[in-house]
Amino acid sequence: MAPRKPSVWNKKPGPGNKKPGDPIIPSPNFRQFSIWPILVALVFISVVNWFLVSSDRTVVPYSRFKDLIRSGEIKRVAIEASFYTGFSENPAPPSPEQPRSPFPSVNDQVKVWRTVPVPDPDFTKLLEEKGVVYAAVSREGNAAFSIILNWILPIAVMYFFWRILQKRMSGAGGNVLALGQNKAIIVAEGDVTTRFVDVAGVDEAKEELVEVVDFLKNPKKYTDIGGKIPKGVLLVGPPGTGKTLLARAVAGEAEVPYFRMSGAEFVEMFVGVGAARVRDLFKQARDKAPCIVFIDELDAIGKSRASGAIGGNDEREQTLNQLLVEMDGFDATSGLIILAATNRPDVLDPALLRPGRFDRQVVVDRPDIVGREAILRIHAKNVKLDDSVDLSAVARSTPGFVGADLANIVNEAALLAVRAGRKKVGDADFNAAVEKVIAGLEKKSRVINPEEKRVIAFHEAGHAVAAAFTPGADPVHKVTIVPRGFGALGFTLQIPTEDRYIVTETELFAQIDVLLGGRAAEEITFGKVSTGASNDITRATDTVRRMITEYGMSSRFRNMALTKRGGGVMGGTQEAFLTREYSEETQRYIDEEVARVIAVRYEVVLKLLGERKNALKALATELLERETVDGKAFKALILAS
Ligand code: ADP
Ligand code: ZN
Ligand code: MG
Repeated sequence: MAPRKPSVWNKKPGPGNKKPGDPIIPSPNFRQFSIWPILVALVFISVVNWFLVSSDRTVVPYSRFKDLIRSGEIKRVAIEASFYTGFSENPAPPSPEQPRSPFPSVNDQVKVWRTVPVPDPDFTKLLEEKGVVYAAVSREGNAAFSIILNWILPIAVMYFFWRILQKRMSGAGGNVLALGQNKAIIVAEGDVTTRFVDVAGVDEAKEELVEVVDFLKNPKKYTDIGGKIPKGVLLVGPPGTGKTLLARAVAGEAEVPYFRMSGAEFVEMFVGVGAARVRDLFKQARDKAPCIVFIDELDAIGKSRASGAIGGNDEREQTLNQLLVEMDGFDATSGLIILAATNRPDVLDPALLRPGRFDRQVVVDRPDIVGREAILRIHAKNVKLDDSVDLSAVARSTPGFVGADLANIVNEAALLAVRAGRKKVGDADFNAAVEKVIAGLEKKSRVINPEEKRVIAFHEAGHAVAAAFTPGADPVHKVTIVPRGFGALGFTLQIPTEDRYIVTETELFAQIDVLLGGRAAEEITFGKVSTGASNDITRATDTVRRMITEYGMSSRFRNMALTKRGGGVMGGTQEAFLTREYSEETQRYIDEEVARVIAVRYEVVLKLLGERKNALKALATELLERETVDGKAFKALILAS
């Protein structure tokens, strides 16, 4: 079935999903930050400047300066590039070869005037006339002083306050690079109390992770035989299905330290900090091996580098590159295993999924009815229940719920009981809790109502029965109406009996028939069709079109390819482009032929399912009851009806 509302899927699990035991990531300490040191510094610098640069010399207009020379008041002039300084008397013996500093000493009881000169070739003549001692003064003697004043002092002051700032930001004795140090929670050995028994309803994922635990416990067993231990395992599944919980359980079972960090925490405001953090995390982890590094919400850093905003995100990209480098950099025998979790595997950079990185993927899916009951039991363990409570009935009434929702239900029921002043949680509390949680989830359209559930059951049964009676269709491995993975409301899993590289025309028609089976079953049973089949319809149409345009299977253009498939972009995620090599008229023929073939196949399927109404009904009923029917049970059911 087709995706319902992908938006739900994109949501990150809210704080509601957090278990009380979840470590809390400390945030950097910015409190006690104060503006005072900076103000003091500014005042200090300006006072010093004012004293030294603009001392109490009288600045006069150039004309007045010349008047003072003419009137004989100025006896001595120091000529500098940007100003002239005149002195009233001459305490030291005049000696143009040894000019005095333009800065008179404190003892000098001289009057000082300063002026900014204008170009005046007759100025020296005037000085000669009046017998004024004059000398050009280079400020070399004061250069060192002025460098100190203008450069070193401000830098020193800034450095001083920089240090104070750093200390404030990173706690006592820290340095600014502490920003790059990771905030990963290190849980020491033995501290992880979560075990596999605390996780239910995700048996397939657990089975695969049992192996990971064994890698960590007995690495020698695998390396002795020459086997390679996987470096990275990616947990993939909708929010709240227990990915974080599973990662913790792996560490608990293996009794190794566990570093947990969320992808979002790597990406900081400053470019390069995320990368530094990754480096640091792996350094720590290598020291502690064997251990587990768990990167939660990997999509925050692992988004495909090709996608996203124009110009990309430097910080994220650097962080991702560093992660790739680190993953390639350690030896699989070192006992370091990286677990990561994501609910957006579709956006991950393909580089992350290459061999030697996250080459193992474990799907953590929504639990079925049995799994839901088991999860409810785990969470109800610490809650006093009275005899009226039937957890299997609660499980039955919560299709589509994930572990976090179920934990929430148990908690709500307990709260309701407390509010009502009861000593034990009763059936009524659970019903009310389910309603409450459903109301909350309905806004996010994650809940399936009973009527929808019936439609889904018949739809999936339609696929399965069509597959069972269509020659050339792959055998049915599993049918389920538990909302699956990425947006599907249910699915029918067919597994071919052997590996196939070419597909015959008959098999292609069988694929189309099975795809149309879902909608046909809806029409037969309910007399109307739903949007649930839209993905099936897309795929069926696509197959027919390709049969005509690429595989040369149409009657008019038999054995002729009408389109050419161009190479995909390197990395293969981009859709290969198609080159059209036909006329408008042919285009019309293709459209008409697609419509005709689909109509013919749909009639065939309608007829087939019409004749197998019993099987359809039996399977749908079984699905409504048990939600999942495996291949063997399916075969038995088909034979019986
Ligand atoms: P995810 O990381 O997949 O979003 P979490 O592991 O954070 O989900 O799950 C949130 C909480 O929901 C867990 O701490 C646990 O209490 C409960 N939970 C989720 N899935 C399961 C499960 N399969 N079995 C038991 N409890 C579960
Ligand atoms: Zn379908
Ligand atoms: Mg999580």
